[in-house]
Amino acid sequence: MMQLYNSATRKKEEFQTHTPGHVEMYTCGPTVYHFAHIGNLRSYIMEDVLEKSLRYTGYDVNRVMNITDVGHLTSDADEGEDKMLKGAKRENKTVMDIAKFYTDAFFSDCEKLNIKTPDVVQPATGLIDDFIHMVEGLIEKGFAYFAGGNVYFDTSKLNRYYVFNDHNEEDLAVGVREGVEEDTNKRNKNDFVLWFTKSKFEDQALKWDSPWGVGYPGWHIECSGISLKYNGEYLDLHCGGIDNAFPHHTNEIAQTESFVGHEWCKQWFHVHHLNTNSGKMSKSKGEFLTVSLLEEKGYDPLVYRMFCLQSHYRKGLVFSWENMDNAVGTFNKLIGRIANLKPGDDVDQAVFDELKAKFVAALENDLNTAQAMTAVYDVLKAKTTDATKLALLADYDYVLSLNLLEKAEAKRQENAKAATAKTEGGYTIVGEGDPAIDALVMQRYEAKKAKNFAEADRIRDELKAQGIEIVDVAGGAQWKKI
Ligand code: AMP
Ligand code: ZN
Repeated sequence: MMQLYNSATRKKEEFQTHTPGHVEMYTCGPTVYHFAHIGNLRSYIMEDVLEKSLRYTGYDVNRVMNITDVGHLTSDADEGEDKMLKGAKRENKTVMDIAKFYTDAFFSDCEKLNIKTPDVVQPATGLIDDFIHMVEGLIEKGFAYFAGGNVYFDTSKLNRYYVFNDHNEEDLAVGVREGVEEDTNKRNKNDFVLWFTKSKFEDQALKWDSPWGVGYPGWHIECSGISLKYNGEYLDLHCGGIDNAFPHHTNEIAQTESFVGHEWCKQWFHVHHLNTNSGKMSKSKGEFLTVSLLEEKGYDPLVYRMFCLQSHYRKGLVFSWENMDNAVGTFNKLIGRIANLKPGDDVDQAVFDELKAKFVAALENDLNTAQAMTAVYDVLKAKTTDATKLALLADYDYVLSLNLLEKAEAKRQENAKAATAKTEGGYTIVGEGDPAIDALVMQRYEAKKAKNFAEADRIRDELKAQGIEIVDVAGGAQWKKI
């Protein structure tokens, strides 16, 4: 059985679902005013591994994700500038163009990292009527009030507001409100906006009609509204980065449970942050690392995925180029070892089952991906047929999604090419299997033997012009395309 740490109870628990064998899963999606940074993508990688682990262990999963394309302010405490508008101003585009551009960029990054697209992806701007309906319901039930042009959720109506932490109101008040002017319309410090009509910005770009005037939804309401529509009233698993726990998830719980009148989601999964030596990576800091930057520097995005899998999702992870270089070394060695396995069809089912059980146990142990990676090495070390090993690795890769077998096959072909060797008169040419090049290399050798060094140099230059580099080695030469 899958054991997961639950932020709501602060314990590792057996994962339970409302309908046996079926998981309703929700993930907070990206705010599309800028590229996702590799910290955001750490969260999406680990959530992808979670979803695939559930499917792999037999669950049927319906996964829903929002795209925040409206109303997400630069501060989680309902203050600050609209992030979308900030992006539009920065790039001289409309808010909707910005949203489209960065949504596409997000999914392109996900593809490079082998992150599966959720079953349902819903931009917040597409479901405004549902949010309005929910806000109306909360007002009717006495959980929300209209003040100074905005609709607020009244946190004093709840028995328990701080679901994820033991903070008292005083502590939070200082942390959240530092440097921010007081919103005097709020009845309680942690009340939050469900619907804004009083925007601080004259040029608020996206606005809709509502019973309270023209305005736009608060950030938290979108996740509740989208999940209720596509996951139903009983959510089994809610995911996000740890910074989402307060206030975002806390507010989602407050408004959703007040609206539906019962407990909403039992299991809360939070991924801890990717940090650099100078602290948490964040979009608002302006300078951050993207998948494109990794590629520009010559790193395979899947090496970053493996780097994430090497540590537990509930620990902070420090990114550095040195760590990436180590990950490259580990990844290449791993692929090299798999490439040395000989495909065949003598799979030993008993060994397969025994080893697979270890991999499953690692995943079911609060998604211990580091342990799951160790299980990969256990396969390589096992005393069994290569066919069994390859079958196991293909099976594990459904969850790991590191393209282990495809990369090993490419490596095998590369090795095969590199291994072409031709020996003539005691002189061995090792190359990439091109007879014309081998012939030129041989001519150069003959010229050198005849002490015709000018001709030997001419042939070297001719090969160089074709992008071929020759290295003289004992008893022959090696050439490769550069
Ligand atoms: P955003 O696009 O800012 O709404 O964030 C998208 C997701 O990334 C959310 O689940 C955040 O909690 C998560 N996140 C933000 N910063 C980091 C970080 N440095 N490391 C890991 N996850 C993060
Ligand atoms: Zn959310």
